[in-house]
Amino acid sequence: MHTLPALLELQGIHENLRIIQRDLTAFPPDMSKLDTELKGILKRQESAAKELGEARTKVGLMAADLKLAQRLEEHAKAAVKQSTHKTQYTAAIRELDERERQKTMVARPLKDLETRISALEKETTELEAKRAQVQTQFDELHQIFIAEHENQVAARGVNQTRRLELEAQLEPATLTRFNKLLQQRQGRAVVAVENSTCGGCRTKLRIPLLAELREKGTIPCEFCQRILFLPPKS
Ligand SMILES: [Zn+2]
Repeated sequence: MHTLPALLELQGIHENLRIIQRDLTAFPPDMSKLDTELKGILKRQESAAKELGEARTKVGLMAADLKLAQRLEEHAKAAVKQSTHKTQYTAAIRELDERERQKTMVARPLKDLETRISALEKETTELEAKRAQVQTQFDELHQIFIAEHENQVAARGVNQTRRLELEAQLEPATLTRFNKLLQQRQGRAVVAVENSTCGGCRTKLRIPLLAELREKGTIPCEFCQRILFLPPKS
């Protein structure tokens, strides 16, 4: 089976890239601190933006409610002015009181929400300034860090290129299955069979499967689904 060498090499490439990635993100304490700070700021920015968006939608609805309440109040005021009889006047005053009360009920939370929006807008501006400042500090250190790790950066490039070459050689279905297995099986998708046993899950293969493996070159493990192969006889 000619896909086996490609799969084995690709598995090795993934392992190399994993180690390189680990080295390239193992920041010294000062960078690590800035990185954590940046992540914290981003998280706060996200939640502030979400709250701000919701508050702006709500404030629009509340402003419309207030407009309606104001119109009803104006209407009630006009009714008071136009009333000629005492009973009519008393009723109109009562109506106006009620309309004023309703307007206050809408106006107060609207004012609170507007205050909250101003505070969030101020915080958003401050967060962005802080983020830019921390990012600049981080980038300066990161440039030095990357320069110190130029071997890893070069190796990453080589491995990534090779990875694309190998992936292009494989059937899409095979590649999809392989990538899924890599993820599910902690980077070990292709394993050797030793003493008739799956090198991944340690399950003993049934005799007919061993025969099939000899014939086909690779088969999936019945239990862990890893791609099995027989190592060359030593
Ligand atoms: Zn297995």
